[in-house]
Amino acid sequence: MGRGRDRARARGDAGSRVSAFGLVCVSRNAHVYLWLSVTQALGPLTKSASEDSAALASDAFKLARRRRYKAQETAASLLPGERVCLCGWRPTKDRQIGISKRDGRHYISGAAVCGSVWVCPVCASKVASQRAEELRLAIAEWEAAGGSVLIVTLTANHVADDSLEGLLDRLTASMRELWAGGWAKRWRASRGQVGMVRNIEVTWGIANGWHPHAHALLFVGRYDHPTIENLCFYRTPTADEVLEAEFKLKQRWQDVAARHGFEVSLERGATLELVVNGRAASDYMAKDDEKTWGVAEELTWANIKVARGTRFTPFALLAACESSDVGAAPLLFQQYANAFKGRRQLYWSRGLRDLLQLGGEVSDEDAANAQDDSSEFVAVIETSIYCWIKARGFLCDLLEAADEGGGEYIDSFLEWAYDCRAFEARRYSKMAA
Ligand SMILES: [Zn+2]
Repeated sequence: MGRGRDRARARGDAGSRVSAFGLVCVSRNAHVYLWLSVTQALGPLTKSASEDSAALASDAFKLARRRRYKAQETAASLLPGERVCLCGWRPTKDRQIGISKRDGRHYISGAAVCGSVWVCPVCASKVASQRAEELRLAIAEWEAAGGSVLIVTLTANHVADDSLEGLLDRLTASMRELWAGGWAKRWRASRGQVGMVRNIEVTWGIANGWHPHAHALLFVGRYDHPTIENLCFYRTPTADEVLEAEFKLKQRWQDVAARHGFEVSLERGATLELVVNGRAASDYMAKDDEKTWGVAEELTWANIKVARGTRFTPFALLAACESSDVGAAPLLFQQYANAFKGRRQLYWSRGLRDLLQLGGEVSDEDAANAQDDSSEFVAVIETSIYCWIKARGFLCDLLEAADEGGGEYIDSFLEWAYDCRAFEARRYSKMAA
């Protein structure tokens, strides 16, 4: 950084010169900057998508990162006063903002983030990756120890006029009743259920409005011996046992949900499936682009994922705000943000984390701020120039430059940024005079 800044100062007036990155001050009067992009200025460094799958993956990664940062800006504009508005704007305590590198990719480090898993696409993605990884490990270890995991999906009928907050409260109350009391105790005892992890997620559709639904992963183990009476041992439940359990669950869910004002279809209200290698049977029937989708992702990534059939996930609504596809999208996203504020993303039943030796649960904010030990700190960025770059929407350009050319490109990019800021400052002082 130091070198870049010193060079920028030594060069003095940026004026309308073309920098190493192809910046041109197109119009002094209109005060427009044009970023010609690293590839245009320094040659075609990025392979076309058709050249190989690595280039394709890299392009997909860049696009996803740009979308996340853009969506974060949109969320901040829709939710004034919320933490997402401050996300990534100041350094964390005892650390400097800079660029770190992990697995060949660069990212901003040392900036304090909001940890809003429901509304901030940048934080949500980081937290979801960690939680999905933790769940995948937990499932694999439990299966390796001889246990099994079942996934439950609970839905309830609703109408377009139902408020999301009311629906969530009723669904939460229904689930609490389902998994407590004598019925739940007998259910747990007969399957050797040692604990569960559950979530709530929501989609929105034009015909029926908000559609909250819930998943739970049941960690089960001891089953009766199929032929020897009074002998229990760890084994995978048979298909018939899963079907029988599912039928009991459907009946119970219908009764419980009805007490909370839901009309529940016996057939579709509740489903129960065995998880094998981290995936439920219905996941295996997913489309090609969803082949990597397992139950860990279902519980942690569902709100974030953009495509969800014909329905909109919350972050698909955020994207729709930008494209004006759905006129009510901004209002709907605000409703969603209010309804989910303060709710936990995942609920672990008491004792399960200890049993699986997972340690204490990490808060959303700590998970979003977590620093990977395997990452390498590459460059410091002075906070004021970092904020200038972020304010003008150039963060992704900086990271792409870093991915393409490492430290040398980072230096050049920062030099360019200092030039632009100096030019801006002179323009404003002339205007003021
Ligand atoms: Zn954030």
